[in-house]
Amino acid sequence: MSLQKAKPGHILIVDDIIDNLHMLMDMLEVQGHQVRIAMSGQEALEAIKKQKPDLILLDIQMPGMDGYEVCERVKADKSTTDIPVIFLSALTETSDIVKGFEVGGVDYVSKPFQFREVLARVESQLAVSQQRQEIEELRERDRQQFEALADIKERFIRSAFHDLKNPLSAIIMYNQTMRTSPPQSEEEIIEATYSIEGLAQKMHNIVTGILDLAQVQVGNLPLTDTPIQPILEHVIQSNKIQAQQKNINLMLEVPDEEIVLKVNEHYFERVFDNLVSDAIKYTPAGGDVRLMMHVGDGCVEIMVEDNGLGIPEKDLPNLFEAFYRVKKTSHRNENGSGLGLSIVAAIVAEHGGRIDVESAEGEGSRFIVTMPC
Ligand code: ADP
Repeated sequence: MSLQKAKPGHILIVDDIIDNLHMLMDMLEVQGHQVRIAMSGQEALEAIKKQKPDLILLDIQMPGMDGYEVCERVKADKSTTDIPVIFLSALTETSDIVKGFEVGGVDYVSKPFQFREVLARVESQLAVSQQRQEIEELRERDRQQFEALADIKERFIRSAFHDLKNPLSAIIMYNQTMRTSPPQSEEEIIEATYSIEGLAQKMHNIVTGILDLAQVQVGNLPLTDTPIQPILEHVIQSNKIQAQQKNINLMLEVPDEEIVLKVNEHYFERVFDNLVSDAIKYTPAGGDVRLMMHVGDGCVEIMVEDNGLGIPEKDLPNLFEAFYRVKKTSHRNENGSGLGLSIVAAIVAEHGGRIDVESAEGEGSRFIVTMPC
């Protein structure tokens, strides 16, 4: 890793000789650094406590507390241990220099000072320290992102278990009831098997939904140039019976010219199949559901529009989360796992597209999938 040029820093110079202090201060201030000075070890520790500097230039030989001791104290304190200390030394004995490193110094400059040398050493230590800080910040951001992901995963698992628990408990209860008071007629037996099958089906839908979502999230769906109109026609075809049963008017509006997009045919159809079946599910009998395609500026918009229950504004931001269902009886009366829209959103994202929703309670909803051409 190459060293970036250091940004100006906040430097504390500690020396008991006033001339040295002023010389160094002038030189560093010209370079844009902010400089404070201290004339003794004690004064230095107080200045550091008041405001943590980015770097300390520290004289070794001072009356009272010498530079080694100041450095030891700075390094012993968790909140200041990372401040780089460069010793200013008239001592040139190897043992003195080694001692400086032993107590935690990162470098030293010999007196009398060579300005360019002092500057080069200050800049290089500041650059190292600033890069270390940036790495720490990146690590912290990674840690926070990891925690957020772990939180999403935990909420996902909790919701899955919660939603599986209810039908499972109901199946157990049914069986216990059948043992204690067995059904008397064939009709009662058939009814009980239907109920149990319905509950098992609910659990099956949740488990398949989770597996589908995981598969899409793993990614790498093979995409090929595919004409889109036949996919949308097939969606209408496969939802026709459901719509007829509810007396819902199901319409398709697509341009005459052939539209070809790079998609995974199976998953792309799944998007509109989910959106259309939701539109039918959450639209009262007699309503309208429209599947439309428009070619826009550099993109294709495919919309599913209904004039059904609509979605309260406060639910819109969470709508594409796994297991999220609108908390209204009119919605909850319909069978659902809350996984459909999260699968839709994951597939659209895998295709490099975007999904938006516009809705007004009691008036209807419009889901818009925008695909780059
Ligand atoms: P579900 O299995 O519950 O239908 P989805 O993930 O498909 O799960 O949808 C999540 C929730 O969004 C649904 O429970 C429903 O409340 C709401 N919703 C989805 N589509 C519509 C729509 N077209 N009109 C009104 N509400 C809808």
